[in-house]
Amino acid sequence: MHIDARTLDNQSVIEGDICIIGAGAAGISIALDWENTPYKVILLEGGGFEYDDRVQELYNGKITDHPYYPMKASRLHYFGGSTGHWGGMCSEFDDIDFVKRDWVENSGWPIKREDIAAFYPKAHEILDLGINEWDVSYWEKQTKGYKRLPLDEKVIWSKMWHLSKPTRFGEKYKDAVVKAKNIHLYTYANVVDINVTENIKSVKQVTVKNYAGKGTHR
Ligand SMILES: Cc1cc2nc3c(=O)[nH]c(=O)nc-3n(C[C@H](O)[C@H](O)[C@H](O)COP(=O)(O)OP(=O)(O)OC[C@H]3O[C@@H](n4cnc5c(N)ncnc54)[C@H](O)[C@@H]3O)c2cc1C
Repeated sequence: MHIDARTLDNQSVIEGDICIIGAGAAGISIALDWENTPYKVILLEGGGFEYDDRVQELYNGKITDHPYYPMKASRLHYFGGSTGHWGGMCSEFDDIDFVKRDWVENSGWPIKREDIAAFYPKAHEILDLGINEWDVSYWEKQTKGYKRLPLDEKVIWSKMWHLSKPTRFGEKYKDAVVKAKNIHLYTYANVVDINVTENIKSVKQVTVKNYAGKGTHR
């Protein structure tokens, strides 16, 4: 179900069981995972279904350190998020990605690579990545003429990459999200405030605003 938040009365209150902020790769995947369940899923997207310069302007910002494309242009602020731009290159994480490294600021995760392994098959399906096989030896057998370079694997190792189409979430999953009876997608619903409980263990409500001057609480 789709609701354009610009059409709501000011200060409307909407209640649900699960609230997801942002309909990009993550938000759409999570919402569809709850499809056909008894739960009312509220999916809040700041933009509409198409590019809108006024909403996109919210992504404007200054880039410090490494130069990169302007922030307003490189990320997308509407349904589907930055998957409207992405190149589709996918690979598995390495063990080292999760551990604290003194030379990488804010590194170190409370989870390990094994903790996410079970989710790869689903991610493959969502991203149209084909067979969930990352082992280099498998692809050496499958692909004529493909052979890894004779390097010391303890120092430099070979690694597989899968290429997505690239899947554009805003195009591929729009119908499924809009048709899902228990998913309530609100477009033009920019979250501007998150109200948490005193011990900061859970979220009580979030506040949403848009350029139509409407505000709502969820
Ligand atoms: C040019 C480019 C190339 C890339 N190439 C690759 C690649 O080859 N391989 C790869 O793995 N990754 C790539 N990426 C990264 C990939 O696109 C992102 O990792 C992915 O889109 C992140 O998904 P997400 O759902 O976390 O965020 P996003 O896709 O950014 O989605 C966030 C969503 O939240 C909405 N939103 C934001 N703020 C609010 C708010 N306050 N209230 C409500 N909604 C809000 C946005 O409108 C958007 O729809 C690339 C990215 C770019 C920009």
